[in-house]
Amino acid sequence: MEEVLIFGHKSPDTDTICSAIVLENLLKKLGQNVKAARNGEPNKETKFALNYFNVELPELINGVEEGQEVILVDHNEFSQSADGIENAKIKMVVDHHRVHEFETADPLYYRAEPVGCTNTILLKMYKENGVEIDKTIAGLMLSAIISDTLLLKSPTKTAEDEKAVKELAKIAGIDYEAYGLEMLKAGTDLSDYSAEELINLDCKKCELKDKKSRIAQVNTADIPEMMTRKAEIEAAMQKVIDEEGLDLFVFAITDIINSNSQAIALGKETAIFERAFTTLEDNTAFLPGVVSRKKQILPVLQENA
Ligand code: MN
Ligand code: MN
Repeated sequence: MEEVLIFGHKSPDTDTICSAIVLENLLKKLGQNVKAARNGEPNKETKFALNYFNVELPELINGVEEGQEVILVDHNEFSQSADGIENAKIKMVVDHHRVHEFETADPLYYRAEPVGCTNTILLKMYKENGVEIDKTIAGLMLSAIISDTLLLKSPTKTAEDEKAVKELAKIAGIDYEAYGLEMLKAGTDLSDYSAEELINLDCKKCELKDKKSRIAQVNTADIPEMMTRKAEIEAAMQKVIDEEGLDLFVFAITDIINSNSQAIALGKETAIFERAFTTLEDNTAFLPGVVSRKKQILPVLQENA
């Protein structure tokens, strides 16, 4: 029988990559024929985590064939998934996002919980199935939760995420605060990325009513340093706007130490951004206390579209 592929979203982040590896581990232990995969290159934070726990990257896939059996983790929207997903057979979803533009022909397992990270749900699934978690897998799960909740500082964090981090840190034998800061900082080394790469590191397509938009985000420990590259970042954003006919492109530069963001917004619908947040000056605005695209940027833009 052919393997069922497990993968997360494009522009993979640490939760997406680790979820695929972790769910592969769990389902294999339950006797299923599954294989972790990925839709894109990992960021530096994810590389740091995999390297730290000495785990190999899942295989890169270039879309899925018609009829391929798949399991989606850390996403459900087809626009964020592998090319060809419309014609794949989705067997299962484990996710912590809103359900949007998702449809299947057949019944499936669908597990969604409004927690801060897919791996918080996966931890419950190990327990429900009575499967033990080894040190390495615990380390990966811990890395994912730290990444998605910015070391438990993001408003997306729930009490369950916090409990999971403490439990997993114990299994992994790790000081999660020291490790987490080191891991997040590894992801903020963005100096050798081109402007095109920067805006694609963590970029999601989203619809704001009938408007087409993208919201990209990078983590940094130094907003002013990133803003020295504003002109080339804007040029790269404008190119995508022209190519894809976007109405709005928001690029959030998030300071993970002080929990603020600087946003750059371009496109003919920047008025949506201004209604949602504040006036742009020279295409940019400081957003105090904003760190979460999912909770603090996307829904506010949607309300104001
Ligand atoms: Mn993700
Ligand atoms: Mn996630």
